[in-house]
Amino acid sequence: MYGWDLNAYLDHLGIVPIATTHSCFSEKFGIPRQPLLADASRAAIELLPPFNDPEAVVGLDQHTHLWLTWQFHQVAGQWSPKVRPPRLGGNKKLGVFATRSPFRPNNIGLSVVRLIEVRTHPKVELVVAGADLLDGTPILDIKPYIPYADSVPTASSQLAEQAPTLATVNIPPPILQLAREYRDNLGTDLPALIQQVLAQDPKPAYQQPDPERIYGMELCGFNLQWRYVDGAIEVVALDKLEREVAG
Ligand code: SAH
Repeated sequence: MYGWDLNAYLDHLGIVPIATTHSCFSEKFGIPRQPLLADASRAAIELLPPFNDPEAVVGLDQHTHLWLTWQFHQVAGQWSPKVRPPRLGGNKKLGVFATRSPFRPNNIGLSVVRLIEVRTHPKVELVVAGADLLDGTPILDIKPYIPYADSVPTASSQLAEQAPTLATVNIPPPILQLAREYRDNLGTDLPALIQQVLAQDPKPAYQQPDPERIYGMELCGFNLQWRYVDGAIEVVALDKLEREVAG
């Protein structure tokens, strides 16, 4: 019927991760819902043997942006024909193929990211900005973004016409100071990252939070906590976690 046998395909698909991801996002909650929404986020895409040959990345630095295909590995094997996209408030269902939901057959993710640097020593890795990827995400392929072919100025989406509106974020000076002291080998600007991640308002859109409720996420090895006061987001704590996460 298809010209191929599904079981044989399952046995011999032959797709393996070519790289892994080091990012500040060590849990799903709080990760921006699409790439390039938080340009302050930094990730290292580390090529794995036998693909970590410096020859394999020659010419990549001629491009400002890349496509990454990857696996939503934390929900691998999970899919549903109807899903609730957060963009629609989390209470309206759509067909999975009409969405960018992780809960899809094959669980393949697609993200355009900004290329900052191609490193070949001591590891072959790409430093990128704006990735919406969990730490440890397996990368299936890397391709350059080609503006003349990949950007479609006349395209439209009636369901997601514009980027989400940004929330107001207030970070108290002592927490800002602590965030400014953060350093990693990717050059992450933690105050900017906190600002941009929270401006996306990670909480489910249908929740009407009362000011008592504290939300939290792990970010760059910290537990970041916030609450909602008069519609704005107020950071209430930034506590160092025991383990390091950023690459
Ligand atoms: N740009 C991608 C991803 C959209 S969904 C695409 O369109 O295919 C984005 C969400 O995926 C993030 O908010 C995060 O919660 C989730 N995510 C990121 N990495 C993941 C992983 N490795 N496993 C499961 N979920 C992941």
